[in-house]
Amino acid sequence: MSDIDVLISEVGPRDGLQSIKSIMPTDAKKAWIKAEADAGVREIEVGSFVPPKLLPQLADTAEIVAYARTLPGLAVAALVPNFKGAENAVKAGAHKITLPLSVSETHSQANLKKTHAQVLDEVRKIVELLDSLPADQRPDFEGGLSTAFGCTLEGKVPEAKVVELARELIALGCDEVGLSDTTGYANPTQLRRLIKLIWAEVGQDKLTGVHLHNTRGLGLANAHAALEEGITTLDSSLGGIGGCPFAPGASGNIVTEDLAFMLDAMGLQTGIDLAKLLAVRQIVRDALPDEELYGFTPDAGLPKDYSPGGWGIAA
Ligand code: ZN
Repeated sequence: MSDIDVLISEVGPRDGLQSIKSIMPTDAKKAWIKAEADAGVREIEVGSFVPPKLLPQLADTAEIVAYARTLPGLAVAALVPNFKGAENAVKAGAHKITLPLSVSETHSQANLKKTHAQVLDEVRKIVELLDSLPADQRPDFEGGLSTAFGCTLEGKVPEAKVVELARELIALGCDEVGLSDTTGYANPTQLRRLIKLIWAEVGQDKLTGVHLHNTRGLGLANAHAALEEGITTLDSSLGGIGGCPFAPGASGNIVTEDLAFMLDAMGLQTGIDLAKLLAVRQIVRDALPDEELYGFTPDAGLPKDYSPGGWGIAA
């Protein structure tokens, strides 16, 4: 990503779609992913290798991964809940896989039906599998530290626990860890502290991305704080779809359109063409007529005379 300053990783097709009741048809998913790649988005998390019984919305993930791989220049990411999921992701050809490890063990048991020790066992097996692959077929493997900023079941999550699990994931062979504000509890000060603590433990190159939600409206404030610390990858979802089951009316992930606007206006290169990105919304709206789309920039439109690349900082 040498020609861009910030990698926006679109997670709507996974995080967004898994959180809503509507099932997006496979062809619409393909059109969405293609349109976003055409708009310049370099990485998209296109699905999750969970049993279709649990998440029928994502039952076509293998097909979507295979399709997304045909789009030039796109890094294709997928979530894997366990070893079986990782096997399927490798078979489908994902470039990057993320296994979520919930720092709140109560949440881990509620969500994945696994203790920390059991999840770490899966990580160990996945690393063995990846190590057996030829280098050009080996996906990047991220351990996602979810509920890192607080949990709807446990409440406060100790920083020391987050750091300890980051250390264990790297020690077991994850290429990277990611910090996830699954519940939308994070604030900028807390986020900066946790980034620094994890860097001190595992090294700056082992944590380059954060996954933020906008549940309490702090998504962009947190994104900006992370950038100032030196984080270079930000997850977001088009239209902020997904919502939050615990906070009616709240958006899901930070909104890709608003994030891309902020970065572009600040003169940071993302590789994204804003006008094209805004047009992608129509595809999602048409395919999900019953779901709410969020975002301020799409509603307000781009400023008068807007031009890409630092419009907001030009004299
Ligand atoms: Zn999320």
